[in-house]
Amino acid sequence: MLHIDKLTCHYGVIKALDNVNIKIDKEGIYAVIGANGAGKSTLIRTIVGLVKPTQGKITFLNKDITALETHDVIREGISVCPEGRRIFKSVTVYENLLSGAYIINDQKRIKENIDIVYEFFPKLSERREQLAGTLSGGEQQMLAIGRALMCNPKLLLLDEPSMGLAPNLVDMVFDAVVKIYSEQRIPIIIVEQNSEMALSISDYGYVLEVGKLDLEGTGQELLLCDEVKKKYLGA
Ligand code: ATP
Repeated sequence: MLHIDKLTCHYGVIKALDNVNIKIDKEGIYAVIGANGAGKSTLIRTIVGLVKPTQGKITFLNKDITALETHDVIREGISVCPEGRRIFKSVTVYENLLSGAYIINDQKRIKENIDIVYEFFPKLSERREQLAGTLSGGEQQMLAIGRALMCNPKLLLLDEPSMGLAPNLVDMVFDAVVKIYSEQRIPIIIVEQNSEMALSISDYGYVLEVGKLDLEGTGQELLLCDEVKKKYLGA
């Protein structure tokens, strides 16, 4: 489905990704973990065309998407919930959700998608007419995830969804990711600094270290791996 081959990215002289290979061919939840500055967000930004690689290729559903602009990547079926949520704070919850469906013309489908998001996140339904900026941090994260679901993605990318949230809200966000996966059955790539939570809900995981893929394995294998425990799980 998603094949990332020998991906290398630079910001000026900084090499943020170095020869990264990732293959996602099955449904499932995939974690990408790593320390600050390891290149996790750059990986997401490159998949969606916000950063152009200096080398390598990204193929999605057998189509080369490496050089596509972001709006075209989204049309191919990849949706992203960006780091820092980036919701539109001065418009309502409902309008934020509508903005996620801009590639869909069918009004009936948009309404169905909004109902699905409200089912996942009943709080958003309660607050549908409220300005998004007045929501709590956890609710804003739900809105950002909900908005990313509005375009019927075939692949969902979540960049640090637990960032800045209190522990109980972190649990709620990870529970929501599991629920979305179990009901929608679309592959989800979750980039996280909360390695333990991310690996515990993931079928497979990748560890990035200073731009390089250091380790990979099932979520359980990585949780039990001494190197991962020492470096990322605070053991
Ligand atoms: P974090 O969890 O802190 O977001 P990350 O693993 O997502 O870290 P990236 O944000 O992808 O890492 O950063 C990878 C490297 O690229 C780091 O050295 C970072 O300083 C650098 N970098 C990221 N964005 C830019 C940018 N816009 N301009 C210059 N360098 C950047």
